Amino acid sequence: MGQITLNKVTKQFGDVQVIPPLDLTIEDGEFVVFVGPSGCGKSTLLRLIAGLEDVSSGQIKIDGQDATELAPAKRRLAMVFQSYALYPHMSVRKNIAFPMKMAGIDRETQNRKVEAAAKVLNLTDYLDRRPGQLSGGQRQRVAIGRAIVREPAAFLFDEPLSNLDAALRVNMRLEISELHQNLETTMVYVTHDQVEAMTMADKIVVLQKGVIEQVGSPLDLYKEPANTFVAGFIGSPKMNLISGPQAQKQNAHTIGIRPEHIGISSTEGAWQGVVGVSEHLGSDSFFHVTVNGLADPITVRASGEIGLHHGDKVYLSPDLTKLHRFNDKGLRIT
Ligand code: ADP
Ligand code: MG
Repeated sequence: MGQITLNKVTKQFGDVQVIPPLDLTIEDGEFVVFVGPSGCGKSTLLRLIAGLEDVSSGQIKIDGQDATELAPAKRRLAMVFQSYALYPHMSVRKNIAFPMKMAGIDRETQNRKVEAAAKVLNLTDYLDRRPGQLSGGQRQRVAIGRAIVREPAAFLFDEPLSNLDAALRVNMRLEISELHQNLETTMVYVTHDQVEAMTMADKIVVLQKGVIEQVGSPLDLYKEPANTFVAGFIGSPKMNLISGPQAQKQNAHTIGIRPEHIGISSTEGAWQGVVGVSEHLGSDSFFHVTVNGLADPITVRASGEIGLHHGDKVYLSPDLTKLHRFNDKGLRIT
């Protein structure tokens, strides 16, 4: 079991309210990602759930029980930190067993649980090594192993992959997703990286300045962003947001159109422009096109094969069925 409910939770540091009243339910077994720019309160929110910070007001429930005043160790939640925090002089086995040793669990149970965790994490052959003899990804897995043996109601991850190089991040992303599928335990995962959020989450919570901007599945957020903040934050490259006469024509203050929903051609289309910077990724090409009458360049995603270059005159065809419309408060018009 691992349902977590936040009811009008707030957090104040001195005079500064970092989290205004916030309501959220995380269902048992769900993989929930908190995503938002640096400083928006993701870590604070996770630490409130973990009990590492006290709430200023409001209530936190775990599996229906009031946990607001409960000490961190009593909440049955396991936090996996960004820094590995492993003991360098201890073997992997001892590192993973450490919380059980502290809890006075017998040696035989310790060994059984360490070996079960090592199996899930592909660490069986490394149990007698020390952290210094492991790769970054393996060290991160040991840290997760230490959380697994506690059999928590939920795992809490605070940007666990940010110290790893790009290739390893992609790998670990898959491993953590797989781990979630195998364990079926609630996971709450904090990241500033919307790609991590999109690829891992059952449910994404987008935060800005401590406020939940939207909660939904990755595809809900992609298809129907509730406001211009979410529209600009979710998706890579970013959605094009256009104000002015082009938006007014669509009865909106701002219109949004994703780079993948704009055609590009050297012969015909609704908007005329000139190719500025182009990025060729092989599978795709991204073109930043200066369009006559629009303030900002428009980003277009095209096939990697298309032969267009800096300075070429082009025409863009936005797919109007994929247009997003927002009012003067930045809220989605439905
Ligand atoms: P994130 O994890 O999204 O980057 P944090 O939760 O770490 O953001 O921080 C949110 C805000 O709270 C920031 O403005 C940060 O400076 C402030 N903050 C965090 N911890 C403390 C603290 N212990 N004392 C005062 N301000 C803090
Ligand atoms: Mg943080």
